[in-house]
Amino acid sequence: GSYLNDAKSLRATPLGDGDRIRLGTGTMLRFSLVDEQEELALKKVYEAALKDGLTGALNRRALEERIDAEVSYANRHGTELSLVIFDVDHFKRVNDTYGHPGGDAVLRAMGELALRSLRTEDTFGRYGGEEFVVVTRGIDLAGARGVAERLRELVAASPIVFEGREIRVTASAGAASLRCCGDVRDRSTLVSIADARLYRAKQNGRNRVVAD
Ligand code: GH3
Ligand code: MG
Ligand code: MG
Repeated sequence: GSYLNDAKSLRATPLGDGDRIRLGTGTMLRFSLVDEQEELALKKVYEAALKDGLTGALNRRALEERIDAEVSYANRHGTELSLVIFDVDHFKRVNDTYGHPGGDAVLRAMGELALRSLRTEDTFGRYGGEEFVVVTRGIDLAGARGVAERLRELVAASPIVFEGREIRVTASAGAASLRCCGDVRDRSTLVSIADARLYRAKQNGRNRVVAD
């Protein structure tokens, strides 16, 4: 039997906000009307929990959760997965020259450029201050190098207009994949291989991608 607000319901009845619907003995549902404004507010709360307010990238926690999920999916299905870490070159100089708001404009631009050059199934997150991570499903190391190279070139070719001035920045990147280098089984190993390669990209002169 079905019950609407504890009364047996035998015919079609319109539901109202807060109505309780009992189905048999084990299931109780509550009907809730959500108007457009409430839906928008809920969406904002949801986004604020997952996204970095400045760049629109996933925040660190959401990013790590997503990488964990992608790594376990790839391991279970024997598919490839790549991760690239980007770090803006000499970002301290940007802050020193244009002030913190200038630095923020650069970070926002990084988010926009990544959004423009990545696929919807790719994961893009802010790992730290001026460090970003891209995770590409089903892409091997050679493919990841291509993804990283494309974004690096786009950043170098896209001056950021800030208060009527042009800020030019470059970024360096390190790439790794699950099957690139022996037994990479988890997020932290994947990230530390990419991070070590990013470090070499910096040492080798910046504005470059290291993927081996
Ligand atoms: P490198 O080429 O070696 O990466 O040099 P760098 O200057 O980028 O080095 P570093 O990583 O030490 O500098 C990062 C700076 O980023 C330091 C910090 O003040 C700044 N930063 C971190 N978060 C933010 C932010 O949200 N906004 C702004 N404007 N600056 C930030
Ligand atoms: Mg850094
Ligand atoms: Mg930097």
